[in-house]
Amino acid sequence: MVDKFPETYVSLLPEVADFLAKPIMPYINGEYVATLSGQTFDTLDPSTGRYLASIGRCMLDDANAAVQAARRAFDEGDWWQKMSAADRSKCIWRLAELIEVHADIIAQLDSLDNGKPLHTARTVDVPLSADHLYYYAGWPTKIEGSTIPVSPQNMFNYTLREPVGVVGLISPWNYPLLMATWKFAPALAAGNCIIVKPAEQTPLSALYIAKLTAEAGFPPGVFNVLPGYGEEAGAALVTHDGVDKIGFTGSTEVAQKIVQGSVGNLKRVSLELGGKAPNIVFADADLEAAAIGSTWAIFGNNGQSCTAGSRLYIERSVFEQVLDGLEQATKRIKVGPGMSQEKYNLGPVISDEHLKRVMGYVDEGLAQGAQVITGGQRMSGDLKEGYFVEPTILINVADQQRIAREEIFGPVVCAMPFDHVNEIIQRANDTDFGLAAGLWTKDLSKAHKLAKALRAGTIWINTWGNTEASSPFGGYKQSGYGREMGKEAIDLYTEVKSVWIKTD
Ligand code: NAP
Ligand code: MG
Repeated sequence: MVDKFPETYVSLLPEVADFLAKPIMPYINGEYVATLSGQTFDTLDPSTGRYLASIGRCMLDDANAAVQAARRAFDEGDWWQKMSAADRSKCIWRLAELIEVHADIIAQLDSLDNGKPLHTARTVDVPLSADHLYYYAGWPTKIEGSTIPVSPQNMFNYTLREPVGVVGLISPWNYPLLMATWKFAPALAAGNCIIVKPAEQTPLSALYIAKLTAEAGFPPGVFNVLPGYGEEAGAALVTHDGVDKIGFTGSTEVAQKIVQGSVGNLKRVSLELGGKAPNIVFADADLEAAAIGSTWAIFGNNGQSCTAGSRLYIERSVFEQVLDGLEQATKRIKVGPGMSQEKYNLGPVISDEHLKRVMGYVDEGLAQGAQVITGGQRMSGDLKEGYFVEPTILINVADQQRIAREEIFGPVVCAMPFDHVNEIIQRANDTDFGLAAGLWTKDLSKAHKLAKALRAGTIWINTWGNTEASSPFGGYKQSGYGREMGKEAIDLYTEVKSVWIKTD
């Protein structure tokens, strides 16, 4: 296996080489099982475009088998009725520990599959996934109902919070394990039985950790992984009458299909979608910190983040100064294969298709009069086989152009000047999205004013990108429905039952 990777790569761990050596099958009812059609698809290394592994291509019959397994585990109570809340906590905690024990392996899998630097996967994605599970491991014993002081004196009324049931979790490729964990950790803590459909580009880590769930003590059928294409495996879950809820992260376009596909049994749907986050730098900010922070606000994870600060608004009096700081910081970013022995800051974008999409936006912007400050090209030389895009800063962009309105989901920022606070509030909010927004200022009053005025689910002030398991996260407008993380995610994965008892 190892010899098909470039010599510049770190050595594959034996567990990784073994895992990739054979076709990797869906995990259903506590074991890896062959797909019913016998079909597979390939997952590729975006740093080279080369084959990585063969994956079971799940279709309707496989989805039926996964739903049946999850249904049985849920309806027969293996997870949330027969097992105590305390024991469920321990399973989730043990899964977090096992992810830490296997962290080097999982980091290699995510780095190979997504292209992100190995050290990023190892120090950010994998530990954050474990942290998420540690946080939600505390929840099963704390999900409570309430007693309600109803009017009739001979009535006692209380509520129970119960799991929704069988939940399909459809996740994207940008943080392969982490985005799946954002969903399955609270869903499991709330007592649901789950089926994860990882993105076709990055199925490896979810499939690998599936077997750890058995070691952690999860009963069969509680945690299933159904790899495949969105239109096949994903759509089969969305339309399935045996599925009670879909949790989805991805594009607004697919979200619309999911809402339409869910109508048959009116299943619950929660959506965490894209963004075009405004990042506003005021002249009174610490401009050096703002320039560095704004660089990582957009280029972190190669711009492939739903919270990427892709609309950078800079107060006109400091426009040149901040732009210069941004340019200097951007030119220091090192881009290369995620699995290289050499340490890079960023890897490739996810796929050839996505590279073309990103470059299409850049080319359209340039044709409409935008000007490149740095970047603007696909990378060549040693990197020509992979999907590498130079971190790109564009100026002379008008608010109404597509590059300033649509989610590029790549390393491209539009830097635009502004003059007044009220003007920038209006321009920042003039978007279909509302996931995140940020600002840089030393003026506390201005900071609070904008924190209230900006229509987005997360506001960052003099910082960017912070998320934590305990703090709610989600979108206004077309950035989604519902809030993940924190207590809010427990609400998202539970139903409330009201119980009335006549006492005399
Ligand atoms: P996507 O198509 O929305 O994919 C997200 C997930 O949905 C994947 O698991 C995908 O499977 C699945 N899916 C696709 N079509 C489906 C369907 N008809 N029914 C059920 N599930 C379906 O996103 P993408 O193709 O990876 O990226 C496209 C754009 O989405 C990006 O450029 C970006 O703008 C946005 N995006 C946003 C986020 C975010 O964090 N908000 C994350 C990723 C992408 P397949 O992998 O097989 O398509
Ligand atoms: Mg897709």
